[in-house]
Amino acid sequence: MDYSALRDMRKIIIEKLDEAVMLFDLDLDPHMIDVRFDLKGRTGGYAGYKVNSYGERDYYLRFNIEGITDHWDNMVNVLVPHEIAHIVAFVKPSLGAKGHNRIWSSIDRRLGGNGKRTHNMPLTKVRKTTWYIYEIAGAKVKLSKIRHNRMLSGKTSYSYMVAGVKYKMSVDNWNGRVVVV
Ligand SMILES: [Zn+2]
Repeated sequence: MDYSALRDMRKIIIEKLDEAVMLFDLDLDPHMIDVRFDLKGRTGGYAGYKVNSYGERDYYLRFNIEGITDHWDNMVNVLVPHEIAHIVAFVKPSLGAKGHNRIWSSIDRRLGGNGKRTHNMPLTKVRKTTWYIYEIAGAKVKLSKIRHNRMLSGKTSYSYMVAGVKYKMSVDNWNGRVVVV
């Protein structure tokens, strides 16, 4: 990861927040907003808040790391204004912006965005893994598809430790459940 890109992106976000504060006369300190670059998968950005122990809102912005690496211009010109328009809506409900309604859209466009609900960046879907749930001596064990198939074919068996005791697992220990995460 190119950390200077993240630094530059953070600067752009803070500048855009400053612009939003001026344009919409917001009671908001942009530096108090938690900006994270931790989104993966198809979500380009996310704006939200948590209510802290003083009953105040702590706003946060999250952006997609792949978007920053591979679709810089799109992130700067579309995603940043889009998410900040949500922050404007949260901070100043009197404007009447909710979700992606027309008022939100006009705020987004005033911030330089395209006013659209969705982005068109070709982001990579998060890869999901299939797990087979085995039960042995009261413990649940997740086995990968490869391991499960080896068990089915009878070519291999796996052993598993429960409370210091080694148990040999067979396909009979599969409880029939499959989870995809
Ligand atoms: Zn949105």
